[in-house]
Amino acid sequence: MMRRNRLTLMALAASLAAGCATQDKTMTPSAVFPSGAGALAGTTFERIILGESVEGRSIEAFVFGSSGDPVLILGGTHGDEPKSVYAARQLIDVLLADPGLAAGRHVTVVPVVNPDGYERRRRRNVNGVDLNRNFATADWAVSKRHSRYYGGPSAASEPETQLVAELVERLQPLRILSIHSIGKRKFCNNYNGPAADLAELMHASNGYRVAPDIGYPTPGSFGTWAGFERQIPTITLELPSHDSRERCWKDNREAILAFIRGS
Ligand SMILES: [Zn+2]
Repeated sequence: MMRRNRLTLMALAASLAAGCATQDKTMTPSAVFPSGAGALAGTTFERIILGESVEGRSIEAFVFGSSGDPVLILGGTHGDEPKSVYAARQLIDVLLADPGLAAGRHVTVVPVVNPDGYERRRRRNVNGVDLNRNFATADWAVSKRHSRYYGGPSAASEPETQLVAELVERLQPLRILSIHSIGKRKFCNNYNGPAADLAELMHASNGYRVAPDIGYPTPGSFGTWAGFERQIPTITLELPSHDSRERCWKDNREAILAFIRGS
């Protein structure tokens, strides 16, 4: 809790220092990015509330830079993968301390896509939907209601899914990193769409294997939706759940910064 408060205060201070008011009311991405990336001219940092979860928790985005390559980074899609949230928040702290690391890039970080699940440390959202099976892909299909991978009553039924999809459509990111964690030593740089080079780039820093396929079907996944169907280079970084969050961050700091640079 302390850490969360500190981050919010830091974000607020940085926002004020940048001369722009923190947006505390709920806004849709279309309101936030009225003409797409680069609309926030003159600002270097902004904390934005994209919208709300099923239970009304804010879903926040931290935006660095106002022009350059749009890059999107997501954490906490699965609420029981807190190391992904930790890594995204560490990244926000690093970029706040040294915005030059994102020079020439328009970086949007959403540290907790699934705040209701994160609050409970549960994989799915509060409706019991696996958000990483809820995207409106060609292969989305009705699945078992109580399954760990339940894809929802219909494609893109969940507000968290809708907010992420809307953000991607507005930002038109050149590349996307979605941070997760995984057990049984399956950690990897998984990629979807034209992202083999990016996966290799991350491999050069984190040493994780490059995986074009996670090894099991994932209908309605974000990677399929963004990577395959929209051809946006998309990396699903699977952190090793057996390592400490500090170790995960230490092993991936440079890899994530390289991903932001794209080289
Ligand atoms: Zn996950």
